[in-house]
Amino acid sequence: MTVFEYGNDIIVIDMGLMFPNEEMLGIDYVIPDISYLVKNKHKVRGIVFTHGHLDHIGAVPYLLEKLGNPYLYGTPLTIELIRDRLAEFGMDRKARLNIFTVNDNIRIGNFELEFFRVNHNIPDGVGIAIYTPVGLCVTTGDFKFDYTPVDEKPSDFSRIALLGGRGVLVAMCDSTSAEKEGHSISEKKIGRTLHRIFETAKGRIIMATFSTLISRIQQAVNSAYQTGRKIAFSGMSLEKAVEITVRLNYLKIPPNTVISLKQTKSLPDNKVAIVATGSQGQESSALARMSRQEHREIKIHKGDTIILSSSPIPGNERSIYNMMDNLFRLGARVFYEKIMDIHTGGHAHKEDMKLMISLLKPKYFVPIHGEHHMLVNNAWIARELGIPSGNIFIMENGQILNVDQEQKGLILKDKVPSGYVLVDGLGIGDVGHVVLRDRQQMAKDGMFVVIITVNKDNGALIGEPDIVSRGFIYMKESDKLLKEVKNQIKKIVDTKGKKDLSVNEAYIKSRIREEIGEYLFKRTERRPMILPVIIGA
Ligand SMILES: [Zn+2]
Repeated sequence: MTVFEYGNDIIVIDMGLMFPNEEMLGIDYVIPDISYLVKNKHKVRGIVFTHGHLDHIGAVPYLLEKLGNPYLYGTPLTIELIRDRLAEFGMDRKARLNIFTVNDNIRIGNFELEFFRVNHNIPDGVGIAIYTPVGLCVTTGDFKFDYTPVDEKPSDFSRIALLGGRGVLVAMCDSTSAEKEGHSISEKKIGRTLHRIFETAKGRIIMATFSTLISRIQQAVNSAYQTGRKIAFSGMSLEKAVEITVRLNYLKIPPNTVISLKQTKSLPDNKVAIVATGSQGQESSALARMSRQEHREIKIHKGDTIILSSSPIPGNERSIYNMMDNLFRLGARVFYEKIMDIHTGGHAHKEDMKLMISLLKPKYFVPIHGEHHMLVNNAWIARELGIPSGNIFIMENGQILNVDQEQKGLILKDKVPSGYVLVDGLGIGDVGHVVLRDRQQMAKDGMFVVIITVNKDNGALIGEPDIVSRGFIYMKESDKLLKEVKNQIKKIVDTKGKKDLSVNEAYIKSRIREEIGEYLFKRTERRPMILPVIIGA
């Protein structure tokens, strides 16, 4: 998410979500902190989207109302994907959606916007040229250059060069693959490899890829059609993406080519191709269910050819490898990126980046999108092309680049709030640091609940303390430990707990947490979460 502000006008570019890392237990999504925008929502004139990936549109349903329902702008497919996402929240009717094409100019407040087509692994992506009163800023969005894309045009080099000719003050460029050498592989080349597999496979073909990687799905459809196979789709997000892109004519499927999963069973194996979700091994995805033989319609058997037309997103490797191993065990032949060119990413490599920077010739260069080390790599490319290091700004989330009327750029000392807001089920931002730490502690060492009943009048312990634990120790085999813990609890209640229970309840609880915690650590070297419960009787 990038914010442009001039005078009384703010426009926002993209509003995506992030998937949680391993430490964010139970968290579904991470969305940006927009408290600065909420404070200035009277200035927010609109949100403009570069493309329809979730990390660029996904936070819209959570944040739109907080900003007073501003106008949303995007290309046809991007807007349709936003509409679809809003519909899941029952918000699509109210949203103010505006479609633009690459040939449109739009004025939003003080800003005049122009667009240029870029290739990416979703159709209809654009870079945005923003004419501000101070100068021209260009943001590439996620992009790559593909001279032979599938069923769409290459990036619009002439328009990018035109912008460069007009004088670009600030260029913000996608850094995701800036560490990778050379040019990114063309989608068409991937298609040739896929087609060879389609031609030679004797049994069914099941290909897993990203739901919105329409060009790849198109190539599977084409190859299936040309090799006399019918095609079926499996997985909710994929079926939805196919429905939308067929309706908007991005994905073109010849008549009588698509069949249902059920119908695949009545055809010979070599007449069947299936495109499925699960390229990342996600537990509930179609291919993962097939790999566990839990899929209702499709059972994997010897002779099946599986194609993982994707690359692992860091963090997903383990689940992908488990899934692949299971598929091999079931007798399938599995093709994946490491052994064959069956996937290409959606981001510019080094040489592509050099072309982009050379065409734009910006005064200031700001690498965007990607981890810090990717931004640094991208900055080196700009440096190599002669942009002085003083004109390259590697920015952290929340930092402000200020460019004045003399076109002097400077990163300000003050930052705007930029933390992560965690989404868990219906709760937005209600899972904070403390809740997360509790979850981590419970996941690591389990929990240990101490229940004591005390006399309301004199604070004396009634009966034995009760202990319940989960994920900590096997209770039945820890008699001795539990007995000692109970004795210690009795001591705490007896010595400090008497008189005026209302004052001492908190005190007893904190002593139980501290002393029992310490004791358990000494005996087990584990730190379970300790939950004291006091019942007054
Ligand atoms: Zn993207």
